[in-house]
Amino acid sequence: MARVRSKDTNPELAVRRAVHAAGFRFRLHRKALPGSPDLVFTSRSIAVFVNGCFWHGHSCEDGKRPSTNIEYWNRKIGRNVTRDKANYRALRKMNWMPLVIWTCRLNLGLRRLLRELREHSP
Ligand SMILES: [Zn+2]
Repeated sequence: MARVRSKDTNPELAVRRAVHAAGFRFRLHRKALPGSPDLVFTSRSIAVFVNGCFWHGHSCEDGKRPSTNIEYWNRKIGRNVTRDKANYRALRKMNWMPLVIWTCRLNLGLRRLLRELREHSP
């Protein structure tokens, strides 16, 4: 299945830099975990997805679908959303915490991630 996110996108890099600057260490794109999370905090079992709003179907302005080929986009993005949910569910079953950072709310997501990292000290 085609990847919906390209690696090392700018929002993802911004998250990585900020988390690194805050003193936390992580691994990248762990293919062994469902959904190949963008950042993985192994000792805390936190898996982070930096999700682009359009491709992952966020209900925000950036997530609005084109007004042409409506069925095509609904099907395509609907598949992504379904797969995302299945990945998050699978992670939870493995006692991981999936944490989604939407690119439209990068700072908000980042604050939440840093809070979780501090609360879940290994
Ligand atoms: Zn959004």
